Amino acid sequence: MTQASARRTGSPYATETGVAQGVAAEQAGAILSVDLGALRENFRRLRHRLGPAACAAVLKADAYGLGAPQVAAALRREGCDAFFVAHVGEGVELRDALGPGPSIFILHGLFPGAEPAALAAALIPVLNSPEQVRAWKSAAGKGAPAAIQADTGMARIGMAPEDFRALTRADLDRLDLRLVMSHLACADEPDNPANARQLEAFMPIRARFPGVAASLANSSAIFLGSPYHFDLARPGAALYGINPTPGRANPMAPVVTLRARVIQGRTLPPYAGVGYGHAFHTTGTQRVATIALGYADGWHRRIGGAAWYEATRLPVLGRVSMDSIILDVSALPPGKPAAGETVELIGPHQDVDAVAEAGGTIGYEVLTSLAHRFHRIYSGG
Ligand SMILES: *Cc1c(COP(=O)(O)O)cnc(C)c1O
Repeated sequence: MTQASARRTGSPYATETGVAQGVAAEQAGAILSVDLGALRENFRRLRHRLGPAACAAVLKADAYGLGAPQVAAALRREGCDAFFVAHVGEGVELRDALGPGPSIFILHGLFPGAEPAALAAALIPVLNSPEQVRAWKSAAGKGAPAAIQADTGMARIGMAPEDFRALTRADLDRLDLRLVMSHLACADEPDNPANARQLEAFMPIRARFPGVAASLANSSAIFLGSPYHFDLARPGAALYGINPTPGRANPMAPVVTLRARVIQGRTLPPYAGVGYGHAFHTTGTQRVATIALGYADGWHRRIGGAAWYEATRLPVLGRVSMDSIILDVSALPPGKPAAGETVELIGPHQDVDAVAEAGGTIGYEVLTSLAHRFHRIYSGG
């Protein structure tokens, strides 16, 4: 065997613009830049809006694709000391990154048999059923830290009213309850009456646990006003620059920039078929350039859309391939963009929400789809 041919940067190293990770810069088809300074700014903005309520951070799915260890370290520097992930495995990795101290909540709770791993990493399961309550108590013993989740009208996860009735005082009395929480189904629609109904349903549940901190708000719910804030908010999306107030101006700072490199350009004659299925045909002479990023990198076929070279929009022509996309570069002077140069896919000209809209999806899905074969640069940590 020869030396590994794909050079990964291995341990992070400092560059002029930040800390580099992932595929080596000279080999990568695309460069993902994460502005940890903007992430920290977003945490401060949310905390300011929350006033007396505390602000946790949701880092599930590798911090929405941006890198949980890097995001966690940056938020720690802002004083964030409560983190949420979905799975035990994510919690174990986050504990390694954070060290002892901060609270790490596991939103899904624990599958039977996962209790020892959760205990070893000092994770706090969010208990979503009477069975999870009993299993955690018998595995973890007296004083086991836990959160409890009520389903107040989303029908996804958490205890239903009849589950609460089935729970006895004995089931709960030896648990160290740290949080009682629920989650809103329609928080990004401020006029949706479901929000007030869920808030109303949460009040008596919260009252059953006097002295235990309460939490209802994700990113969008922070913007529904203080009745939704309780003791602790759990934003994810807004921290990463996704607009928590769809249809209104984005109150958050952009965090992510994605640039892809040009592999080559060519000039096509009229009536040339472009890309798979010849889904596009030229009508006249047309200049195109192919970039090294495709649907395997998270740029879904249904997004299509465009890239930007400085202030010039370069429409995607035909179908998105697995590893490449063909752009119309006719609006640029000849020779531009040159091979090896980069074009913007997410950045000042089109933010993550604009890309999502082009693909008929949400910013959450765009970010969590971003692949791991990028060169990554973390700045402002
Ligand atoms: C994902 C999630 C959050 C964070 O939601 P955002 O909309 O990204 O702020 C909060 N709470 C629960 C239960 C979640 O599943």
